[in-house]
Amino acid sequence: MRMGRTIPPAATPFSWGDILSGLKGWVKGNSELERFRGELKDYFRVKHCFFTSSGKAALTFILKALKDLYPDKDEVLIPAFTCYSVPAAITRAGLKVTLCDIASEGFDFDYKHLKRIISQPERIKKLLAIIPTHMFGVPSDIAKLKEITKQHKITIIEDAAQAMGGQIRNSKLGTLCDAGFFSLGRGKPFSTIEGGIVLTNDSVIAMRLKKAIDNLSPLSIPEILKLLIYSITLRIFLNPYLFWIPKSLPFLKLGETIFDPDFSINRYSSFQAGFSRSWSSRLDHMNTIRRNNTIFWMNSLKALSQIKMDGVVFIRLPLKLKNLKTRKMLMRISDEKGLGISETYPGAIESIKTLGLEDCHCPNAISTVKKLVTLPVHELLKNKDKESILKETIKLF
Ligand SMILES: *Cc1c(COP(=O)(O)O)cnc(C)c1O
Repeated sequence: MRMGRTIPPAATPFSWGDILSGLKGWVKGNSELERFRGELKDYFRVKHCFFTSSGKAALTFILKALKDLYPDKDEVLIPAFTCYSVPAAITRAGLKVTLCDIASEGFDFDYKHLKRIISQPERIKKLLAIIPTHMFGVPSDIAKLKEITKQHKITIIEDAAQAMGGQIRNSKLGTLCDAGFFSLGRGKPFSTIEGGIVLTNDSVIAMRLKKAIDNLSPLSIPEILKLLIYSITLRIFLNPYLFWIPKSLPFLKLGETIFDPDFSINRYSSFQAGFSRSWSSRLDHMNTIRRNNTIFWMNSLKALSQIKMDGVVFIRLPLKLKNLKTRKMLMRISDEKGLGISETYPGAIESIKTLGLEDCHCPNAISTVKKLVTLPVHELLKNKDKESILKETIKLF
């Protein structure tokens, strides 16, 4: 077990002042939520904005609204490599997961595979929604997806959980499709401890979302206190000199990914909204640092030089290694030295047994997962951390 400076793989640091501002928000109540909502609507230029307890809760609400609108469709198409929360939300909404492989380079759909799926009339009949995903912040090619699906009535839901503040050709990620969502969880581009945001210009979807979310009861005082304690714990232990402590406690399951459709769905609180004080300038600031660190990695590691950067903000920088063995070796070194190099998900989506997707074959997703690590790019990374990481990674190429 490592004791001593340990870099978190992704981090969205906040101050004691932000916690105080959360407490003020709690006192202010609804007006604090409306302030945040108004700012988001202005910034993203969307008609409707909703808050939920998490990104996966946001997706669940969108999907449930669509299920009501199109009761004879029950399949949702997602990339075969994505966050386990996505199939969890689909299952929670009572719908079926179907997979499209990712491209051999990058993380976007394999559009040939996607076209094959779309060309089958019996699949189209069942297909309720497609979820393009800006994985690690890299924009999915939404224009292409729209072109491919334009003859069909399929809703496109943008998974921008990892991409708040990113843009493509001057359009803000999260606003490009029928509905989009962000996560405000720990380690996402911007965080209010926990939370999720839905953006949409579709009034029919919005009406249903509003009804479902208004039906939730407000958080109880013990629930808010739990969030408060969690925020204080994070504030203390997100310090690289202390991060080894929570990392070494196995019951915290830090960084572990499990597939759990029984996640809690709650109302978003004004305490959380209070954390969003001057969120857009803080997000800008954090994203500028993430971008600068990314440029540093690209200049230092030849293996990364092919990455396109215009407008892209990486939340952590994906790096494909030669094979599984190299990845395991690098992970062992990173754990020993606290470098914050991280694996992504334990497997491709088809390897989640309970989903029963044994018949899906998405070779690119499987091979990507085996080789992939990410490098930290957040503001807690100091020059000497970068040097240590570089020393270990550069010899692998
Ligand atoms: C984190 C994440 C989610 C879910 O967000 P939570 O707030 O953790 O529920 C969904 N999709 C992607 C790609 C994510 O990274």
